[in-house]
Amino acid sequence: MGKLDGRVVLVTGAARGQGEQEARLFREEGAEVVVADVLDDQGQDLAKEIGALYVHLDVGREEEWRTAVDTVVAAYGRVDGLVNNAGILRFNTLVDTPLDEFMRIVRVNQVGVFLGIKTTGPRIAAAGGGTIVNTASYTGMTGMAYVGAYAASKHAIVGLTRVAALELADQGVRVNAVCPGAIDTAMSNPGAGAGGATDALYRKLVPLGRIGRPEEVARLALFLSCDDSSYITGQPFVIDGGWLAGVSIG
Ligand code: NAD
Repeated sequence: MGKLDGRVVLVTGAARGQGEQEARLFREEGAEVVVADVLDDQGQDLAKEIGALYVHLDVGREEEWRTAVDTVVAAYGRVDGLVNNAGILRFNTLVDTPLDEFMRIVRVNQVGVFLGIKTTGPRIAAAGGGTIVNTASYTGMTGMAYVGAYAASKHAIVGLTRVAALELADQGVRVNAVCPGAIDTAMSNPGAGAGGATDALYRKLVPLGRIGRPEEVARLALFLSCDDSSYITGQPFVIDGGWLAGVSIG
């Protein structure tokens, strides 16, 4: 018995990183998984390997959401789970951030989650209920210099999560957010394996003394997507090795 037997779950940004681990784990737990991404080759390879369906989906484009969800419903007859995972990060001070860069981040991170809820929410409700998990961030709960546009978009995702939970609860759709700290993916650790700089940084910053693993975030997304979290909706869940707990003077 898998925790997601009989479920059909779409994961955005699933070609690599946390989304990939979510797709793998959800498949292992019995779900029909839809791998959605703009990295078509990587996404198709993963889908083939794990027995999932691949759809091309730029999450910032409403017409692509409509096509993707129609494709999923045509293939499986329903969709009852969504993990809004796709996201991008850019480093800049706020005063140096070009408007185009700010808007690009908002379009993928914030508009992407909005469109996911808007397009998929009614279909999940029509399937008799289900779950939406939005990927916010540690920076959706607190500030971080040099990632202003990103932090703003991740704070917005926490707000969208709360409102969607209120509006969809009576249709049987639970909506929660994951707020990862530093996780070892191409996004936050691009030089992985090339040297110890980031390891040393996270040993110092993070109480548990290490960067997180994408598999650990996938297990939280699984918890929020299955019946183990049946009485939980509208909440952000921080997964950060204790980073947000405070500062240590020791
Ligand atoms: P990643 O860069 O490895 O994965 C992001 C995925 O999103 C990629 O597959 C990419 O192709 C896809 N993507 C980008 N733009 C897209 C678009 N417009 N439409 C569809 N897919 C698109 O990074 P990751 O760490 O796996 O990131 C996953 C999520 O976790 C993101 O939302 C990110 O902001 C969030 N997050 C990451 C960290 C971290 O430390 N890695 C921390 C907090 C939150």
